[in-house]
Amino acid sequence: MSPPQVLDNALGAVGKTPLIRLDKIAKDQDLKCNLLGKVEFFSAGGSVKDRIAKAMVEAAERDGKLIPGKSVVIEPTSGNTGIGLAMACAIKGYATIITLPNKMSLEKEALLRALGAEVIRTPTEAAWDSPTSHIGVAQRLQREIPYGIILDQYSNVNNPLAHELTTGPEIIEAVDVLVAGAGTGGTITGIARAIKKTHNKDCIVVGVDPKGSVLAKGPDCDEVSPEDNTPYTVEGIGYDFIPEVLNFQDIDQWMKTDDAESFAAVQLVMRNEGLLVGGSSGSALSGALRWLKSDAGRETANTEGANVVVLLADGIRNYMSKPWFLQIAMEAPPSALAGKIADILNTK
Ligand code: PMP
Repeated sequence: MSPPQVLDNALGAVGKTPLIRLDKIAKDQDLKCNLLGKVEFFSAGGSVKDRIAKAMVEAAERDGKLIPGKSVVIEPTSGNTGIGLAMACAIKGYATIITLPNKMSLEKEALLRALGAEVIRTPTEAAWDSPTSHIGVAQRLQREIPYGIILDQYSNVNNPLAHELTTGPEIIEAVDVLVAGAGTGGTITGIARAIKKTHNKDCIVVGVDPKGSVLAKGPDCDEVSPEDNTPYTVEGIGYDFIPEVLNFQDIDQWMKTDDAESFAAVQLVMRNEGLLVGGSSGSALSGALRWLKSDAGRETANTEGANVVVLLADGIRNYMSKPWFLQIAMEAPPSALAGKIADILNTK
C-alpha cells in the first residue's frame, strides 16, 4: 500500500479529471464508436476553468505581478473562471472582485461570495465593449483600485496554454474526435493544439456554439452564425465578440445548438449515465450526437474503436435553482413503477 497522497492545498486537486464512458447513450444512439465524457466537475472548484485560474495566478506570481495582501484580482467572467480565481485567491491571500452578467446563476454568485469574493452584476444585454458590460465594469474598477489587476482570460496566453499542458495531455491517447463548447475558446484551442501537435494531426475538433452567439465563424466553418442577438439560457458558452485566445485554425467544424436540445441532453446524461453535469455539457453532447449523425461524422460513428471525447465543462451544482434544471429533474421518467406505486398507496 502506498501512503495516502497529501496535497498542499485545494489547487493540487485542480484538473486530473476522469474520462468516463457514455456507453448507454452510445448504444441507444446506435454508435459503434466509443463516446467518452471528460468530466470536469470533479475538479476542486467544480469546472474546467479551475485550470486556467490556477495557471493565470501562478504565471502572474512568477512575473511578480501579484503582491499578497495588496493585489486585487478583478475578472469579468461567466462565473466559473471567477470561482477558480476566488478559490486560488482565498488560498493565496489576494482580494478578488468578479463582474458577472445578470443571466448567470445565483449559485455561482453564492459560491463566489462564499469564497470571499466581491461580486458585481452587470446587464446581460450590454455589448462587450460597453462601459456597463462585465468587461467594461471590470476595466473601470481596475483603473480606480490601487493594485487592481485583470488577468484577462480573453487574451491571457495561459488560458489556452493551461489546456495545452493539462486537459489535452489527459485525453491525448484516447482521442480521434474532440467536441467542446467555446466561451473564451481557450479550452478547445488549447486541447486542439496539444492533440494536433503531438499525437494525432488528423484529430477532428468540433466546436459547439449556442444560437445567438457569434463565435461559429472562420475559414472552415460549415455553419456560419448569423448576426443574431437571440438570448439563450445556457451559461458559459457563446459570446458577442471573438476572444483573442480562440484560434479558428484549430477548429475543423462548428455545430450550433439551442437551449432545448442542451437541456434534453443534460437529462439524458443524468438518467442514463448518472453524471450530474451542467448546461453547456448538454450543448457539447447534443452537438456531438448531431455531428455523429451528419455526413461529416457518420464514418466515425460507424468505426469500432474510434474515440469521440466530449468535454463536460461543469456540474449541476451551478444550476440547481434554475427553472430548466427543476423542469428536467422533476419530469417523470417513463416508468412502469409509477402506476404500481399509485395503486399500492391508493388502495392501502
Ligand atoms: N462551459 C462552461 C460552463 C463554462 O463556464 C465555460 C467557460 N466560459 C465554457 C464551457 C467554455 O470554456 P472556454 O472559455 O475555455 O471556451
